[in-house]
Amino acid sequence: MSAPNKSYDPVEVEALKPEEIERMRDEALAAFAAADSLDALHEAKVAHTGPASPLALANREIGALPPHAKAEAGKRVGQARGAVNKGLAARQAELEAERDARVLVEEAVDVTLPYDRVPAGARHPLTTLSERIEDIFVAMGYEVAEGPEAEAEWFNFDALNIGPDHPARGEADTFFVAGPEGGTESGVVLRTHTSPVQIRSALGRELPVYVICPGRVYRTDELDATHTPVFHQVELLAIDEGLTMADLKGTLDHMVQSLFGEGMKTRLRPNFFPFTEPSAEMDMLCYVCKGASVGNPDRPCRTCSSEGWIELGGCGMVNPRVLTACGVDPEKYSGFAFGFGIERMLMFRHNVEDMRDMVEGDVRFTRPFGMEI
Ligand SMILES: [Zn+2]
Repeated sequence: MSAPNKSYDPVEVEALKPEEIERMRDEALAAFAAADSLDALHEAKVAHTGPASPLALANREIGALPPHAKAEAGKRVGQARGAVNKGLAARQAELEAERDARVLVEEAVDVTLPYDRVPAGARHPLTTLSERIEDIFVAMGYEVAEGPEAEAEWFNFDALNIGPDHPARGEADTFFVAGPEGGTESGVVLRTHTSPVQIRSALGRELPVYVICPGRVYRTDELDATHTPVFHQVELLAIDEGLTMADLKGTLDHMVQSLFGEGMKTRLRPNFFPFTEPSAEMDMLCYVCKGASVGNPDRPCRTCSSEGWIELGGCGMVNPRVLTACGVDPEKYSGFAFGFGIERMLMFRHNVEDMRDMVEGDVRFTRPFGMEI
C-alpha cells in the first residue's frame, strides 16, 4: 500500500488550505463592510463572488483532489461561500434601507413652505358679459350667429335699407377697405354694426329665424373715455308668423330681468332707424334707484341722473323692405330686432367709467371681474 500522494492532499494545495479559505472569506466580508454605496457593493460582489473571485478559483481546484479529500475541501469552500453570500445579502439590505431613508428625506415636500404662484388671469369682462347675454337667449331657443368683420357694403348698408345717400355711409363713420387702386371702390367695409349678420342669417336659414349676433364692429371714432373705434355689439333678430311689438317688449323685459334681477323692465320711445318700422329707443329701469330718485331730491341717483331710466339701445319691427331684401314675404312674416353696445352695458352694469380701460389689456382691470365661466 503506497502512501497517500502528498501532492493531492487538500492541506497541501495552496488555495484550499483552511487558513487561505478563511482569509478569502474574511477579505470578502471586509470588502462588503467597507462598501459605502450600492455601486461599491456591486463591485465587491463581482470581485468576491464572481467567476474570477478567489473562492470560485479555489472551488475549481477541488476537482483535482483525490476522492477522499474532495468532501472535506468542498465542505470548507461551501461554508466559506455561504458565509460570503450571507454577508453580501445583509450588507445589501443595509445599504438599500439607508438609500430609502435618504430618498425620503431628500424628496420630502414641505407643504408649509411659501411658494411662487403663477398669478391667476381673468377672462375679459366683455367676453363674459357677451356670453352671459348669449346664454339668456340660447335658453329661449335662439341660435348664436356670426359673420365676417370685413363686410360687403351691400350687407352692411343696402340690405338694411341704408341707401347710397344715407349719412351713415359717409366716410366720417365708416372704415372703407381700399380697392386695388387704393380707392374705396372695393365695395368692402369694416362692418359698422352687427346687423349684416342678421341679413346673412335671414338669407341662409329656413324660417322661422331666431338668432342672436354678438360681435366686434368698427367706427372711425377717436379713443377716449366714452368712444372706441373698435367695440362690441349684440343684435337680435326674430322672424316668424305673427310677431308683434308685444313680443319684442316681452323679450327685452326678460333680458334685463335676467341681467339685473327681478322687477326690472324696459320702456320704448319712438325713434327712426332705416331697417326697422316702427322703430324705438329702448330704455331700462335704473337698476340702482329703480326710479325712486325721480322727483325726489332727497334720494338723488348718479347712475341715471335721477331720471329713473337708462338708455340701452335701439329696436323695432323689421322693415318690410329689409324682409323683402332677404327673400322673406312681408305679407306672411314679421320680425323684430334690437341691438346695443356691450361696452356701454359693461359701463353701467359694473360702474366702469373709462372705456379706455377696456381696450388697454391691463390685467389689473380684468382681474376683479374674476373667472365667471
Ligand atoms: Zn337711478
